[in-house]
Amino acid sequence: MKLASAFNQSPSLVTLTRLADDSYVDVNDSFERVLGYSRITVIGKSPVALGLWDKTRRERFLAALRKSHSITNEPASYRCSDGGEYHGVLNAEVVSFEGEDYVLSIVQDTAEHGDESADLRRNMEAALQLSEQKYRTLVDHSQDGVFITQDSNYTYVNQAYADMLGYVPQEMIGSPYMNFIAPEDREFLDRLWTRRRAGQWEQSAYEVRLLKKDGETRVLASVRSGPITLDGRLSSTGTIRDITEERRTQQALLAAERKYRAIFEMAVTGMYQSTPTGQYLKANQALAAIFGFESPEALTSSLKSISELYKDPAERRTINTDLERDGRVTGREVEMRRRDGQSIWISLSARVVRDDDGKVAYYEGSLHDITARKRVEAALQGSEQRYRMLVDHSQVGVFINEDGRYTYVNPAFAAMLGYTEAELTGMSYRDIFPSDELAAADDRFQRRQRGEAVSNDYESTLLQKDRKTRVNVTHSIGTIDMDDHRFMIGTVRDVTDQKRNEELLKHNATHDPLTGLPNRTLFIERLATAMESSRAVGAPGYAVLFIDLDSFKVVNDSLGHAAGDSLLVQVAQRLVRCLGPSDILARHGGDEFTIMVGQTHELDDAVEVAERVLGELLKPIKLGDNEIYTNASIGIAPGHVDYGSTEELLRDADTAMYRAKAAGKAGYVVFDHDMYARARARLRVETELRQALDNRELRVHYQPIVALDSGRLLGFEALLRWEHPVRGLLSPDEFLLVAEETGLILPMGWWLLKEACRQIRAWRDRHPQARALSVAVNLAHKQFMYAGLAQQVSEALQEAGLGPDGLHLEITETVFLENPKAAESTLRKLRALGIALHLDDFGTGYSSLSYLAALPLETLKIDRSFVMDMESNPKDAAIVRTIIELAKDLGMRTVAEGVETVQQLHMLQNLGCRTGQGNLFAPALDAKRADRLFDRTLLALNPGESVHAGTFPRPVAAASLLRRTRDFFRRV
Ligand code: C2E
Ligand code: CA
Ligand code: CA
Repeated sequence: MKLASAFNQSPSLVTLTRLADDSYVDVNDSFERVLGYSRITVIGKSPVALGLWDKTRRERFLAALRKSHSITNEPASYRCSDGGEYHGVLNAEVVSFEGEDYVLSIVQDTAEHGDESADLRRNMEAALQLSEQKYRTLVDHSQDGVFITQDSNYTYVNQAYADMLGYVPQEMIGSPYMNFIAPEDREFLDRLWTRRRAGQWEQSAYEVRLLKKDGETRVLASVRSGPITLDGRLSSTGTIRDITEERRTQQALLAAERKYRAIFEMAVTGMYQSTPTGQYLKANQALAAIFGFESPEALTSSLKSISELYKDPAERRTINTDLERDGRVTGREVEMRRRDGQSIWISLSARVVRDDDGKVAYYEGSLHDITARKRVEAALQGSEQRYRMLVDHSQVGVFINEDGRYTYVNPAFAAMLGYTEAELTGMSYRDIFPSDELAAADDRFQRRQRGEAVSNDYESTLLQKDRKTRVNVTHSIGTIDMDDHRFMIGTVRDVTDQKRNEELLKHNATHDPLTGLPNRTLFIERLATAMESSRAVGAPGYAVLFIDLDSFKVVNDSLGHAAGDSLLVQVAQRLVRCLGPSDILARHGGDEFTIMVGQTHELDDAVEVAERVLGELLKPIKLGDNEIYTNASIGIAPGHVDYGSTEELLRDADTAMYRAKAAGKAGYVVFDHDMYARARARLRVETELRQALDNRELRVHYQPIVALDSGRLLGFEALLRWEHPVRGLLSPDEFLLVAEETGLILPMGWWLLKEACRQIRAWRDRHPQARALSVAVNLAHKQFMYAGLAQQVSEALQEAGLGPDGLHLEITETVFLENPKAAESTLRKLRALGIALHLDDFGTGYSSLSYLAALPLETLKIDRSFVMDMESNPKDAAIVRTIIELAKDLGMRTVAEGVETVQQLHMLQNLGCRTGQGNLFAPALDAKRADRLFDRTLLALNPGESVHAGTFPRPVAAASLLRRTRDFFRRV
């Protein structure tokens, strides 16, 4: 009010004009009165337009004001409304408030210039001060930032501005405003101010980035400012607003808008809004392009109805029906037409937009051209047909399974299981898996459905339509996910034949091809299982029989291999008949068989099986035209929980079998621990015997062979001894069997042959009466069968420098049994060397005498067992007589073994046996002791006692012979 009255009541002409358009905002009473213009007529008009001011002068005035913001004591003249002129002194200044610049002008009458003017000035200043306070309160509480700068420093900032940058106002006031401008904008602001200082305020609003107190964070501010003159200096004031957030939102909106526009305008997807009746309300460029139009307008203007675009217009109706029923259609594939008539495929998705009343407002949709895809699909379908043809004709089963059911099967798969394709299609995999494999199949299926890793290749069996026949197959399965659905595509191969072959191979590997019985490998495997379970229950429950045929070799050699094979097959068949349900029979090799008697609790069970076997073998076996008898030696090893390995058990059964053979064949022996001990001993002998030859532990002892009529020394039998380092002198029965079994007899015999020849040659050289001395060397079966024998013999003779008359060889009948032809040829070779051959142990073996006449044998040795009992047993005496007579008939000589008594000597003499050996004369002597025999020809008969076979010995003679012999030994 005060300001208003001061303004109005001033005697000076006071006006307020807006600087921007130089129009009157207000004039005071004096103005009206002096110049004759009413307030109403001047407000809003400019002084120049009213004719109050000269235009040029007014412009100059305003320019000066803009430049310096104030003008003091300028002469001014006004044209009054009546045409008269009014002169005065003008003071003016630019005042800004609320962002607008005003010019406050006060014109004093030149005539009245004086106190009045000073008065007015005081009043005006007071008024201004008042208004400053008023405004200050306003700006202090303004939500916008407000500032004043003077000489590039802030002289005022309000709370809002300080808050904006995180300061309190006092921190900012006095500081250069430039400090608060982000560095990147300082140059811009610098230029702005350079222009403002030059009076160019055209850019009153601008945006600038400010720095918060942290020196980092930017605040985007919108600034409106203008110049003011304060204390006569150019200053600026303005408002400032944080528009960071606003701008961000704006930009986001802008981006979204751009995006939407881009999508709509530039998308390859056609987009539209349309009416149910078939008019496009909106369509984008892409839509037009899809149908071959240059613009959406061209499209809409040339169409009467959208239906025209459909190849089959009826299809739009069905789509609309679906749309209105479901609210939307998705991915509908439709064949449509382009403007040029060319057919295209469209994928269409649309929805119904309804108004507030629920009525259909319009359809909104998108579509895109899928012609290319359709073309590829068609091509694929073509190739699919080709593949299908392949699959249909494939020999491998192929199927597609969906949710466990077969949705496709090829003919091969159907045929594999005996179904037609139609029958099998729709069936579940559960219908074709046998019940014992169903759990595994279910598990695989469920894991695969869940997407877990399952082996894609596996073997199984499937049931044929008859639900009985099983087919072995291998599956190979792949999982395919398509349209949210899981399919299994698989191939199935019938491997029944392959399986059968594999099983055959496996069978062959574990069975003997000749007899079809399990072989040694399988037997040992089964035995191991039995041993294991027996250990688990802590009771044996099984036994092993080791069966060795007694005369297989004879058959094989005499009747041929085919007969041998047939024998084995027939024996196997008989053995099978002896088995109990839990027994296993195997061919161990050659003519050896093994039986595991399972589930025995008594040894009797095993013995019973052994007896059944022997019983079965009693019946003759037909081999072609021949009927032969065979038998077996059986060793039984009862199971024992202490057995560590199958080898131990088999070894013991084998040991027992040897005992059975030694005991006279065609029988069985149960293994016991003495036997075990013996077996161990035998093993030790074997080990040591291997060293004996190298260690020079072998010796030759010589038993004299004498003329029974005269007692004259004819020669020696060489007998092998083993000077064992611990056990002393061992006779052949303690090691000979082992030597023969191990083949050690060959090097040992070779050594003995040379040694004996050497010794005889030495004796011949040393003793004149021994010129015709000979040595009889025993040949074991193996030695005799050795192909190099004749060669060895001649070498030994040569080496010793001994004539063939110095060496006799003793063989047994067994050599003729196994291979008579080879034996005969060896005999002839030896005979050709001039060697006399003696048949040892005659009468104990096979008394087939036919060969005796045919073979070049020189002497029969009457076995000790006959001589031993001939005095008491007339039967033995008869045998001895028969042998002697037979020999005479065949032109052979006889040597009686084991002559121990004078009676025996007497009987032999009477029967016509001329030669003999035995303890009655001398046991086997070592070379040294034998050598002494030559010193004194004690064994020679008394000179003049001429003896002739058949006439000599008289009891007296025999008695005297004995006496002399005994005397001799007492001295040796
Ligand atoms: P053999 O060929 O029948 O030898 C005769 C055996 O009867 C010898 O036993 C001999 O010491 C023994 N003997 C001789 N007179 C009497 C007697 O009046 N009373 C008794 N009770 N026994 C008598 P030895 O030396 O123990 O030989 C046993 C067997 O060992 C031999 O029987 C022979 O078959 C074999 N043998 C011995 N030396 C050799 C050899 O160098 N090579 C081969 N292959 N076998 C040999
Ligand atoms: Ca002998
Ligand atoms: Ca003998």
